[in-house]
Amino acid sequence: MSDHRDSREDAMRLLLSLIVASSCGLVLGNNVIWLETEKFADRGGWVNDSQFVDQMGSPFLLAIGLEGPVADASTTISVPSSGVYRVWVRNRDWLPEYSPGRFQVILGEQTVNHVFGASKKDGWIWEDGGTVKLTAGPLTVRLHDLTGHYSRCDAIVLAADQDFRPAEELGQLARQRETYGGVSREIKTLEPYDTVVVGGGLAGTFAAVASARMGCRTALIQDRPVLGGNSSSEILVEPQGDTTREPLDPGEGGIIEEVRGDVFGYSERLLRLVQNQPQLDLFLNTHATGVELASASEIKAVIALDVNTGERYRFPAKTFIDCTGDGVIGVWAGAEYRHGPEPRSMYNESRAPEQGEVNKGTMGGTL
Ligand SMILES: Cc1cc2nc3c(=O)[nH]c(=O)nc-3n(C[C@H](O)[C@H](O)[C@H](O)COP(=O)(O)OP(=O)(O)OC[C@H]3O[C@@H](n4cnc5c(N)ncnc54)[C@H](O)[C@@H]3O)c2cc1C
Repeated sequence: MSDHRDSREDAMRLLLSLIVASSCGLVLGNNVIWLETEKFADRGGWVNDSQFVDQMGSPFLLAIGLEGPVADASTTISVPSSGVYRVWVRNRDWLPEYSPGRFQVILGEQTVNHVFGASKKDGWIWEDGGTVKLTAGPLTVRLHDLTGHYSRCDAIVLAADQDFRPAEELGQLARQRETYGGVSREIKTLEPYDTVVVGGGLAGTFAAVASARMGCRTALIQDRPVLGGNSSSEILVEPQGDTTREPLDPGEGGIIEEVRGDVFGYSERLLRLVQNQPQLDLFLNTHATGVELASASEIKAVIALDVNTGERYRFPAKTFIDCTGDGVIGVWAGAEYRHGPEPRSMYNESRAPEQGEVNKGTMGGTL
């Protein structure tokens, strides 16, 4: 009888934990608690960096504190059962020679006995933070920056199963994120659009506005919290036109003239322009992660990730416009491409470099 009651109580506790856990944005399975840092309830002074998902697999939290360590990021989870948990932290020592971005993880009142971001290894890795004893129930998890010099933390795993190893290989890691709730398993299909524009820099924003004004039901997918890309309030650059002429003639022509003005508030003006288009749906903080093909030469849908919640979406459309600045949609669809400066002989352009660096170098800040 008491066994029955115990197992009923265990089941109730697990159910309760799952309810609390799923409201905190993590899911438990095989005694593994998987925490994506971008889902932390309070980011403190850390920011969500969503621009390297294609390279390292996920948005992550970044501590930019030029004058010292930033405030802790924190969230509360529910530990399903008391016991010993191994702490795994995916992070990057971005300059192994000096290890400038260092941080610690604090679980309740316990500081994990390991400094992360100082592995002396290149690239993103899971570091073993050793074991901690945790008590069933709510637990506050904190990211505690030590330097302010761009500490990077992607995810934290607390594993009661001591044999559990989070994967380093990106494909396996993506499957683990699905299994343990880092991203949604389900990919929600949206109503088909006439046009899907990926990338909300100047090119994408104005392409989407033009498409919507022509009566096409349009989606604009942008992976930052603001519009403008390299020409945004985030970068503190706004288009000024040709400022080399005398007298000055900074006009560009077209939709861009509708938002001309000071750099402060530039992204907000872009936002208002977009919100004023009845046929245009804006998806900020949404990163396109892949395409589905109808045939070898036709895109059927773009798959995208909400970089704050881990929800995934499928955007079917008739027309897709790649304004990522990197041409990634075209690359994923199998289009031919090359990158890097071409040699002068290729197009006989007098200012092109003699040798070029085809498929080696990049052409500028946007590539
Ligand atoms: C400091 C500075 C000064 C400059 N000065 C000049 C100048 O004087 N004259 C000039 O002509 N140009 C200048 N430029 C360059 C100009 O700003 C850029 O060429 C232009 O803004 C590029 O616009 P874009 O829309 O093509 O791309 P971007 O601005 O790169 O926008 C692309 C957007 O797409 C988003 N994105 C990328 N991948 C995805 C994805 N998978 N899913 C969702 N979103 C995605 C990116 O986050 C970005 O916001 C300057 C740039 C900088 C940084």
